[in-house]
Amino acid sequence: MNHETALSKATEIAASVLAPAARQNDKEGRFSSEAVDALGRAGLLGLMLPAELGGSGLGPRSFAAVTAALAEADASVAMVYLMHICAVATIAAAPPGAAVEPILREIAAGRHLSTLAISESGSRSHFWAPVSRARRNGAGVHLTAKKSFVTSAGNAQSYVVSSLAPDGTGPTDSTLYLVPADSPGLSVAGPWDGLGLRANASAPMSLDGCEVPPQLRLTDDGAGFKAMLEVALPPFNLGTASVSLGLCRAAVAGTVAHLKSARFEHLGQSLGESLPTLRAQLATMQIDTDGLAARIDDLVEHLERPRETTMLRVLEAKAAAGEVAIGVTSAAMRACGGAAFSRHMNIERLFRDAHAGAVMAPTGDVLREFIAKAILGMPLF
Ligand SMILES: Cc1cc2nc3c(=O)[nH]c(=O)nc-3n(C[C@H](O)[C@H](O)[C@H](O)COP(=O)(O)OP(=O)(O)OC[C@H]3O[C@@H](n4cnc5c(N)ncnc54)[C@H](O)[C@@H]3O)c2cc1C
Repeated sequence: MNHETALSKATEIAASVLAPAARQNDKEGRFSSEAVDALGRAGLLGLMLPAELGGSGLGPRSFAAVTAALAEADASVAMVYLMHICAVATIAAAPPGAAVEPILREIAAGRHLSTLAISESGSRSHFWAPVSRARRNGAGVHLTAKKSFVTSAGNAQSYVVSSLAPDGTGPTDSTLYLVPADSPGLSVAGPWDGLGLRANASAPMSLDGCEVPPQLRLTDDGAGFKAMLEVALPPFNLGTASVSLGLCRAAVAGTVAHLKSARFEHLGQSLGESLPTLRAQLATMQIDTDGLAARIDDLVEHLERPRETTMLRVLEAKAAAGEVAIGVTSAAMRACGGAAFSRHMNIERLFRDAHAGAVMAPTGDVLREFIAKAILGMPLF
């Protein structure tokens, strides 16, 4: 599979599987297993895995394009997809000795969905500082933790879990583990009833003395922090920015359709023909959406050819994208008036979904802290 086929498969799945069900899944808060099955059958779950493992060996450019295309139809599914890709990158980066190859092959074959279970109730959005601590259990560990939000909770086949290393001394001395869904002691600890992204099952999960064998330790002890920042964060920020882009594109398309079709019959004109204020709002939405697309292209280019400014771009892209998505979907709500407000169109779902990006860790506020500290030459942690 090359970039073009990956994108065309994603676009086809978005049109045939995601779009027809998005409204009802949002209403019911229903996780779309059909969407995950379709992504698996199309080979998109193994998008970035190497060909030796059965993957497509594609890079960040294809991941961003696929994620944005999915988000244009249903951001909940796009978020499930991006969490999976971040988890897969983390699993694939496990040190030699980890027995993850069979799982990676299952992922490439489209039969295994994974996700990140990082945030904890105790340290909230400060994902880099888990409060749970792994306890030694022979050569493996026991994990007991309260994970506050886990996208695809109860629907994934495995979870990438963070916990303080058994002998770690500092707040960021964590280790990452792979916990299969059928591990005794692992459970979904509550419902997911979000304002937006309602169909992605981002419920809390508990680990109660889950046994993890040494082969499923994904990092050296204490190296979880480094893996979170260097392996998981770049695709996470690129993916959330791409979800924002898909939402913006959908908001522009929905607004265009409305301004063309809704009419002032007494004036004999469509809304778009009649009102320059609406045209100005639409133009601003388009400018901001294309600006975000250019920012994502720039980040992709930095990830393809890493350099000194790459981490800064990683931080900036998610911070900027969260604000753009809120701005563009808010403008769409206003331009489409009472029709949007009364849920006659999909704009209000896009508006609700768009608000998740800024509060998902690293939140927009935390990213600003990191960016400013970085350019002031201050330590980040
Ligand atoms: C839809 C959704 C899906 C999610 N999926 C996952 C998942 O799959 N896996 C996972 O691990 N987590 C997931 N999360 C959790 C997410 O990453 C955050 O941990 C969570 O949203 C933080 O919420 P909180 O109430 O705990 O924030 P709090 O930490 O209580 O933050 C409250 C406010 O304080 C601000 N703030 C916090 N610290 C600072 C600081 N140092 N400087 C400035 N401002 C600060 C924040 O920006 C925020 O505005 C998900 C969250 C959502 C909403």
